[in-house]
Amino acid sequence: MSRPLCLITGASTGIGAACAILAAQRGYDLILTYNSDAAGAQATADACISHGATAQTVQADVADPAAIDRVFAIVDAKGPLAALINNAGIVGPAIRATDLTHARLREMFDINVIGAMLVAAAAVQRMEPRGTGTIVNITSAAARLGSANQYVDYAATKAAMDIFTKGLSDEVAATGLRVMGIAPGLIETPIHGKGGDADRAQRLAHMVPMQRTGSAEEVANAVLWLMSDEASYITGSTLDVTGGR
Ligand code: NDP
Repeated sequence: MSRPLCLITGASTGIGAACAILAAQRGYDLILTYNSDAAGAQATADACISHGATAQTVQADVADPAAIDRVFAIVDAKGPLAALINNAGIVGPAIRATDLTHARLREMFDINVIGAMLVAAAAVQRMEPRGTGTIVNITSAAARLGSANQYVDYAATKAAMDIFTKGLSDEVAATGLRVMGIAPGLIETPIHGKGGDADRAQRLAHMVPMQRTGSAEEVANAVLWLMSDEASYITGSTLDVTGGR
């Protein structure tokens, strides 16, 4: 029996990689995108293959619409597309809102919002004619916390994706597609170091009611549950995976 196909953006490391490995264990074949870390993406693919999946890596900057077209040409060759985990994202170094530049905002919104919306739209175009498919957008608890004095731009991009999740899910719900969000809290991944503050998650862990950071695997468990038939009456919702924060 053929395995359903799942596309994951940003699967070279962190939450995307954990989702890929769990999806492989749950029976999916994978198309895994990355931007700069080819070796990381290949390591994720190798782990998926060891669980019996096929896994193809694709370099694609989601800020580049032509790159998104390339990804979906591969999806169409392998298809049909059963699931999308819309995960690729960035933070920037901590900054006050008054110091934000046009260039920083452009990059943040191009990747976290415009790229993610175009990827979701392309997935819907493939899923809608078949009347089945699940999309999970990875947003953030920052969307309601605001991330003052750290990165309000990032928080704003994730709030945009939360309401996009609701709007898109309403558009397609009657066709059989489900569109959901996962809003992680402080999760131990390389993203904090890329933002210039590798210890950020550990340092802020005391603010979490559960008094600890989360793991990428704990996020992946929630993502794969939303994608499963156990969540068959859920769409339009964004689920916090935050230890209570
Ligand atoms: P990581 O930095 O560990 O991984 C980010 C992934 O996104 C990498 O695979 C990276 O690819 C990819 N990526 C970055 N920029 C681009 C781009 N321009 N085009 C395509 N892919 C890109 O981050 P996390 O795993 O922590 O984050 C995953 C998602 O979870 C993000 O959307 C993030 O905002 C969200 N999140 C994370 C939280 C956390 O505490 N970790 C909390 C809340 C939300 P490459 O490595 O190849 O460059």
